[in-house]
Amino acid sequence: MKRSSISLKKLVSFLDSELSLSEFPKDDSANGLQVEGRERVGKVGLAVDACGYTFERAKERGVDFLLVHHGLIWGGLKSIRGVAGKRIKALLDSGISLYACHLPLDWHPRYGNNAELLRVLSLKKMGEFGEYHGKRIGYWGKTGTAMQMDVFVKFVDKTLKTRSSYVDFKKKVRNVGVVSGGGWSAIHDAEELGIDTFLTGEPSHSAYHLAKEMGVNLIFAGHYATETLGVKAVGEMLKKKLGLAVEFIDHPTGL
Ligand SMILES: [Zn+2]
Repeated sequence: MKRSSISLKKLVSFLDSELSLSEFPKDDSANGLQVEGRERVGKVGLAVDACGYTFERAKERGVDFLLVHHGLIWGGLKSIRGVAGKRIKALLDSGISLYACHLPLDWHPRYGNNAELLRVLSLKKMGEFGEYHGKRIGYWGKTGTAMQMDVFVKFVDKTLKTRSSYVDFKKKVRNVGVVSGGGWSAIHDAEELGIDTFLTGEPSHSAYHLAKEMGVNLIFAGHYATETLGVKAVGEMLKKKLGLAVEFIDHPTGL
C-alpha cells in the first residue's frame, strides 16, 4: 500500500497551527522544529523524550520526522558538546528532523496530555485547572460515582500501565484535578475549584502538607506515564488527516 508523504515545510506549518504553539510564548522549551532533517516526510515517530535511545530506534524504524514532548533545546542553547553534541550529531547524520511540543501538548483541548488523561480515566471534563506560566494547562473532571482512593488508584495504574505513589487523606474521589508531568504546584488551584483528588506525574514532597491542610488526596502516577497520551493522539491525527505512517517509540523511565 502506497503511503503519503509531505514536505517538511508543510508539515511543520501544519503542526505549528494545529497544536496552537502560539498559545505559549513563554514556554522554556523551544517549541516547533528544533533540528531540520530531510526535505520530505513519509514516516513520523512519536516519543516522550528526545534522547539517544529514541534517535536510534527512530533510525532503525525508518522515521523521517520525530515529534517529542521533551525536546533538546530549553531556555537558550549554550553549547553543542558532550551528550548534547552526540544527540544532535545522531539526528543530523540520520537526516531525522526533531520537532518539540511541550506546554501546548499538556494543555491542548483535543490532543493534550491532560485532556487525554481525563478521557482514558472516564472523567467528565468540567474546566481548566492548574496555572503554569500564567495559563491553566490542566483540567478537572468528575468521576461517574464517588470512589474510594485505593479503588481509583488501582484503576489509574491499570489504565496508564504505571505504579502510582499516593497519599489518601480520606476524601472520596469525585472531583479530580489533573496536570501531567512535574505539575505538583497546580495544587494551589485545588481549594478554589473544590478538587478532592489531585493527580500529577512526579512525586513532590512539598505537596504533602499543602494537600493535607487542604484535605486533597494526592496521586503521583509517574512523569512518563502521564505524558505518552499527547504524542500518541498527535500521531493518530497525522495518520487520519495527512495519511502519514506513524509509530510510537516507547521508552518508559519508570519515573
Ligand atoms: Zn514533562
